[in-house]
Amino acid sequence: MKAQVFRGVNQLSYEDIPVPELSADEVLVQVRVVGLCQSDIKKIRYPLYEPPRIFGHETAGTIAAVGNEVKNWEIGQRVAVMHHIPCMRCAYCLNDNFSMCDVYKNISTTAGFNASGGGFAEYVKVPGHIVRSGGLIPIPDDISFEEASFVEPTNCCLKAVKKAQIIPGQTVLVTGAGPIGLMFVMLVKHFGAKAIATDLLPSRIEKALNVGAEAAFDARDPDLPAKIQALTDGMGVDVTLLAVPSDKAFFQALDCTRKGGKIVFFAEFPDEMEIAINPNLLYRREIDLMGSYSSSYRLQSLASDIVFNRRIDVKALISDHYPLEKLSQAVEMAIAPTSETYKILIYP
Ligand SMILES: [Zn+2]
Ligand SMILES: [Zn+2]
Repeated sequence: MKAQVFRGVNQLSYEDIPVPELSADEVLVQVRVVGLCQSDIKKIRYPLYEPPRIFGHETAGTIAAVGNEVKNWEIGQRVAVMHHIPCMRCAYCLNDNFSMCDVYKNISTTAGFNASGGGFAEYVKVPGHIVRSGGLIPIPDDISFEEASFVEPTNCCLKAVKKAQIIPGQTVLVTGAGPIGLMFVMLVKHFGAKAIATDLLPSRIEKALNVGAEAAFDARDPDLPAKIQALTDGMGVDVTLLAVPSDKAFFQALDCTRKGGKIVFFAEFPDEMEIAINPNLLYRREIDLMGSYSSSYRLQSLASDIVFNRRIDVKALISDHYPLEKLSQAVEMAIAPTSETYKILIYP
């Protein structure tokens, strides 16, 4: 089968490799669509993981083979694939910190080499633990593979929204209106809160308004804090979701978030970046800083419900379609987006 193998920093190689062999409790999925995620791009561009690997984890496809002992799954079924599933027993899992679980981190779907998602291939193998524990999600007949590929990123965004305890009537600042920021705007609105978005690209500012933002501004606008005060009765926003890895965005968030509010680090910052803050800003204003990484097992059915019942319009986020062969071009496009680049989908 064909796969895009990570052979080193910025080296993707389109290769013929063997289709993964199944053990008795495993399932093989033919990948139909896989979303290109910012985290894939980081793993390709920075020396974070030893090559060779096959990345790609926002996977939707068709079951192509099942091991002898697999029950309840049949060849031909359409499924969204979760690349990690926690153990549900360790101290992290018992505290709902599923993405810190060793099983979650170490067991992954794979197309070969060190298991790393494996969606950037024609076939991906789903390990028994993931098969048994809810990692295969049936796709309803009226939902496309494209839409189904959004279940995983929806879960990740949903987790941040839930962690920040966003409730109806609140106002939320979303910094960055790329595919993730726009999904935040949709989810914030879905849960009855108001979203204010910022970005540098005029087209993305416009798009944020189109998908439901109450207001959207240029992130460089020096009057942004004043404008946000004006929209929030002089209070500032209840929550800021940082969807861009920018220290400027963080300081802006500090200026725009109300006393007692929350700032969520969602985007992954470059490792070398450090941010100096005066702790009294947090103490006197009681602002909570929190991080939200990856998805939550507990939100899996809600994430599926949101996508499969079209409670948010994930199709509005799709901008580009690339064959797997052209993954490198897709990555280039994501790094230097045009005014119309949002979510990029890859087709093996
Ligand atoms: Zn992702
Ligand atoms: Zn665990």
